Amino acid sequence: MPDINIDLFLALLKQEVASYQVPVVDLIAVQSKDPFKVLVATILSARTKDETTAKACSRLFAKAPEATALAALSQEEIRTLIYPVGFFKNKARYLAALPAALDTFGGKVPTELDDLLSLPGVGRKTANLVLAVAFGKPAICVDTHVHRIMNIWGYVETTTPEQTEMALRRKLPQKYWLTVNSILVAFGQGTCKPVGPHCDRCVLAAYCPKLGVTPRRLPRPRHKERPTLRLISWNVNGIRAAAKKGFVDIVQGLGPDIMAIQETKAHPEQLSAELTGMNGYEAYFAAARKKGYSGLAVYTRLKPIRVITGLGRDEFDSEGRLLTLEFDSFFLVNAYFHNAQPGLSRLDYKLAFNRALHDFVDELTAQKTVVLCGDLNVAHKEIDLANPKANEKNPGFSAEERAWLDTFLASGYVDTFRLFNQEPGQYTWWSYRFNARRKNIGWRIDYFIVDAGSRQRLKGAAILSDIMGSDHCPVQLELRR
Ligand code: SF4
Repeated sequence: MPDINIDLFLALLKQEVASYQVPVVDLIAVQSKDPFKVLVATILSARTKDETTAKACSRLFAKAPEATALAALSQEEIRTLIYPVGFFKNKARYLAALPAALDTFGGKVPTELDDLLSLPGVGRKTANLVLAVAFGKPAICVDTHVHRIMNIWGYVETTTPEQTEMALRRKLPQKYWLTVNSILVAFGQGTCKPVGPHCDRCVLAAYCPKLGVTPRRLPRPRHKERPTLRLISWNVNGIRAAAKKGFVDIVQGLGPDIMAIQETKAHPEQLSAELTGMNGYEAYFAAARKKGYSGLAVYTRLKPIRVITGLGRDEFDSEGRLLTLEFDSFFLVNAYFHNAQPGLSRLDYKLAFNRALHDFVDELTAQKTVVLCGDLNVAHKEIDLANPKANEKNPGFSAEERAWLDTFLASGYVDTFRLFNQEPGQYTWWSYRFNARRKNIGWRIDYFIVDAGSRQRLKGAAILSDIMGSDHCPVQLELRR
């Protein structure tokens, strides 16, 4: 049996329950100092909420403040007055018989346990309570709260309230006999409840052995879902051509927070006002020196902190292939990777750019989340194109380009689409020839890639293959803010 410090426990609880509602029987004792009222209130309080007992007492004592007045009421009248206390019919019967029973004791409430036990409806608990509360006698009233809590503490090891009373008489210092019931009733009603005691906020939690207790389970604080940003990336294969196919309406219809565009093939001054000042978005551009070639744009509802054009390296920055926007919690790196060209004639240059970009992105990742998006001009694995065998030596699926992507991802980046979707036949680019799109003979070469450390921010990734207007379709990332 655990050895608890009963002095500490009861001292802490006395302080604790001072702010709780006082059990109604104590309240009546304090207010009236009248043993008759304490006795009647105690009888009424069995199996009844304090609030209900208090109201019933108030109605009954208005008509019957002492035993003679109670004798004048019929059992039916008493029943009506005390309703709805628990077992009100039985209690009305006891109370109707009470005045006659009290006559045996001169019309007064007796002050001895055995005499009290002879009264109708008075059991050991009630008798002890009346002795303790009404007469201040060294009686221990053990109701279910006292019995239960003393066993939870391991202070007694008993199976009935009577056994607990006997055990406490032997063990509990007498100075606590008068008060222990009131304290533990209040505590048992307010904190150490019979079902799911509130151990999480209990003043005794650090000391209590909690024997046989299943504390209440607090509802888990609901995870507040962080707002999600919807990012879309799209190689439009010429923004002016796309505009003729409804580009602005498509963007407005999709309504992303950020729209990253590759292959604009235009300088900003060549664009219409609706493309440079699209409703609801700020627009940023990175054009190639050569007109009608490559080029990037970002339309954003979020205001960037900083905009970085290119890699800061002359040999790579004339073609409008990199446009980076820094936001509060992430970098968006919008990239249009080189095509290695037939015969892989530009492969070395492409791989040099790729490595420089890798270094650049690593530097950003050291600062905050990086979202790299765009046309990488490479399908990563066989699942990512319709005819892998036929394209093994071709630009976009050469071993060298795929090996670079392997290395890049292995260094700590995530191909977000494959995180959410392992299905074959998921493509983002189709040749304009041979009805390739209709037949879904395509390649997945457009990506959203995120640093692995920010994986938990990813909510979804998708290919928006229904969106027409280019030989590529948009890809989408949902990113928690
Ligand atoms: S810790 Fe829990 S079981 Fe122990 S007294 Fe407090 S509420 Fe009751």
